[in-house]
Amino acid sequence: MAQEFISSWTGLINAYRSWLPVSEETPIISLHEGSTPLIPVPSIANRIGKGSKVYVKYDGLNPTGSFKDRGMTMAISKAKEEGCEAVICASTGNTSASAAAYAKRGGLKAFVLIPDGYVAQGKLAQALVYGAEIIAIRGNFDDALEIVQEISTKYPIKLVNSVNPYRLQGQKTAAFEIVDTLGEAPDWLCIPMGNAGNISAYWMGFNEYYKANKCKKLPKMMGFQAHESAPLVFNKIIENPETIATAIRIGNPVNREKAIKAKEMSKGAFSDVTDKEIINAYQILGSEEGIFCEPASAASVAGLLKFANEVPNNTTIVCVLTGNGLKDPDCANNNNKAIFHSNIENDIKTVAKTLGF
Ligand SMILES: *Cc1c(COP(=O)(O)O)cnc(C)c1O
Repeated sequence: MAQEFISSWTGLINAYRSWLPVSEETPIISLHEGSTPLIPVPSIANRIGKGSKVYVKYDGLNPTGSFKDRGMTMAISKAKEEGCEAVICASTGNTSASAAAYAKRGGLKAFVLIPDGYVAQGKLAQALVYGAEIIAIRGNFDDALEIVQEISTKYPIKLVNSVNPYRLQGQKTAAFEIVDTLGEAPDWLCIPMGNAGNISAYWMGFNEYYKANKCKKLPKMMGFQAHESAPLVFNKIIENPETIATAIRIGNPVNREKAIKAKEMSKGAFSDVTDKEIINAYQILGSEEGIFCEPASAASVAGLLKFANEVPNNTTIVCVLTGNGLKDPDCANNNNKAIFHSNIENDIKTVAKTLGF
């Protein structure tokens, strides 16, 4: 008899219901997010050596192309349960794409504040198509976040940035998935930090699994920021953060305290990587592993490569790839080593000659 394949995955709330603050009454707004692949990356492992095993958690394969969907399915489901009719967020792009998709699917209005001119093309396209109302401000992400925080306290509109505790609840499931796949927690978790919600969520997830005996160890939390947007590394507010990795172009992270706690309790580290190091990792992932992530995501791998000499023998490492490369086509077009023969005559001979025959 032919085997029929019916996917039983219906999103992370259903999969991890008993670990999440939901009840029978919660309306689940889902696009079947989560269950993203944990992919070995041998070319990175070879660069580290010493018997290391390196994987990427490819969260760019979520429904809107970033890990933000993990938090948004929770935030929007709870907003709907509470009877909210509209949500708002500040965003470097991915939060707005995700908020728009989930809000509209749940029948809610979505308002997004973005820093004018600093949102990657793919992300803006998504927010437009999902039908969000977009407010582009003359200011950066930190300015936008301040405004939406204040507005959400004054008006009946739900804030869905990572200060919303349901966001981190949803995002912690990525740690569960890693342990469920490996059968144990990794030794190191390398992750980019912007507002530092995700590193805090992973730490919460690993700890909950540890306490429930689902894993016997906890990973060192290794958080990475872009050199000119590194408030947690240099321990100060950055007034004018800059980086090609626009998703982590943040100078005053709201989850600062939680992230520092994760680093200290796990005996991990924070460090900065230059845009050049980010692009180098981005190109290795693309051209040697076949994995296309956005530049902010590549900061996790850039950070690992920076720490190569400090990796102990036989270490299992997971780098979190937070977003899909298709989000930022400009970055791809401007930063690659592709051989591009243009203006080639339309005949077999010329094409064969160009191929080197
Ligand atoms: C939001 C985002 C980050 C940063 O996550 P935080 O929780 O703000 O630290 C990193 N990479 C991508 C692609 C993102 O969208």
